[in-house]
Amino acid sequence: MNLSRRRFALLSTAAAATLAAPAIVRTATARGWSGPRPKNVILMISDGAGFHTWTAASYYEFGELGRQVYDRFPVKTLMTTFPLNTSSKPTNDTTPTISYEPAKAWSLAPGQGDLGGEITKKKYPNFFAGYEYVKKNYTDSAAAGTALAASIKTFNNSINFDNTGRPVKMVAEFAKSAGKSTGVVSSVQISHATPAAFAAHNISRNNYAEIGREMIEDGLCDVIMGAGHPMFDNDGRYRAPGSDKAFQYVGGADTYFKAATGRTSYQWIETRADFERLAKGELKLDKPKVLGVAQVHNTLQFNRSGQGMGNLNANVPDLATMSLGALEVLARNERGFFVMIEGGAVDWAAHANDTARIVEEQIDFNRAVRAVVAWIERNGGFEQNLLIVTTDHGNGMAYGPESDRYAFQPVINRGKGQLPDVTWHYDTHTNELVPVWAAGPGAEQLVAASTGEDPHTALVGWGDVRRYHDITDIGRLIIAAVSAEQRASAN
Ligand SMILES: [Zn+2]
Repeated sequence: MNLSRRRFALLSTAAAATLAAPAIVRTATARGWSGPRPKNVILMISDGAGFHTWTAASYYEFGELGRQVYDRFPVKTLMTTFPLNTSSKPTNDTTPTISYEPAKAWSLAPGQGDLGGEITKKKYPNFFAGYEYVKKNYTDSAAAGTALAASIKTFNNSINFDNTGRPVKMVAEFAKSAGKSTGVVSSVQISHATPAAFAAHNISRNNYAEIGREMIEDGLCDVIMGAGHPMFDNDGRYRAPGSDKAFQYVGGADTYFKAATGRTSYQWIETRADFERLAKGELKLDKPKVLGVAQVHNTLQFNRSGQGMGNLNANVPDLATMSLGALEVLARNERGFFVMIEGGAVDWAAHANDTARIVEEQIDFNRAVRAVVAWIERNGGFEQNLLIVTTDHGNGMAYGPESDRYAFQPVINRGKGQLPDVTWHYDTHTNELVPVWAAGPGAEQLVAASTGEDPHTALVGWGDVRRYHDITDIGRLIIAAVSAEQRASAN
């Protein structure tokens, strides 16, 4: 591992004690592992995708449910996602202030008043008490990312910092300690909260330049791919950066120019053609590590001009192509790898209550899952690969068109190629249960981790699954999986 002075400073000060033995993470690894261990661990996150988002995309894609590749996975679970507290900075205590209570989350009693939207500025009436309950006490993507990566509950805004303001060791660092490669892939900026949680530490997700600099100059991850290019706008058009802020997502202007001119430990790629060549194994690499920043500013597609589907930015790869490129690089390590792959703009489309583009983004994610599963089938199958497909929290509460009168009315299927009928009840995150699909060694440990039961899940089409675990249980599983003693390589 290539540690810069800055990273060394982080690891060598007061943080060292925390990193050596963070209490919650110690629990995660001390459990050990029974049964065969995965060589590779792949976590795929459709950011901000509540049940309705998966359902709506499947209706559009297939005209029915049950056709996604992950529908065939042996493990289906539900999980809670709430943070330790909703503070935006450390509160220096470990008292949980939030929970999830099924009876309240699905209450049919009348709700009180309305909540103003954070993004749309609309008023969202609380038609039922259940709607009102899940709109409160939600996690942000930083605390949720930290729960997934480091298996701790913490304050919103935290990128792998605990509630006393100390950095904690997370899955990519455990993987590195075990000799594995690590990577992050996202359809949004490389330094956005979710990829950041698997590649960096920061007291606040909003410190994009610091996070980008840590990711690129310290180089924990072997592969970093996403958006955030300073020289391109949201339509993928070349433009002169207006200010230093244009460079923030790639660590600031200095880091960007170093990276783009080959003066970091990464091979820099940015064109769609290079991403596609890499995915096919046809791109000659001069360095073992790859930093791919697609030629677009915020996100591959969602922020492009116009409305609805179609007229995609043509100069950027899709998430499936980036994912296959990442796997191509990471699989060169015979000890295996950990990678997090995120459909990051699903969440943004939910914030915008944009039904057409949330379906478009979720389908892009679904295609990436299919590409990853096909790769797994060519590379050791589900005997060597643990794949988890999930989200980090709900967002937007899209229910059926009459869900103001009929509580939790499901979205209405209009057939393949048609947008389903939905009504949005909020424009930000929720404290709802979310779905998890998993396959491969250790997947069943998520079922074993269940601590609660929700008798209402039939309302979202999950009547056969009622038990739920917590988002930190995924962190615990993947940390244990990558930390496990290495078995002899099959290569
Ligand atoms: Zn999120």
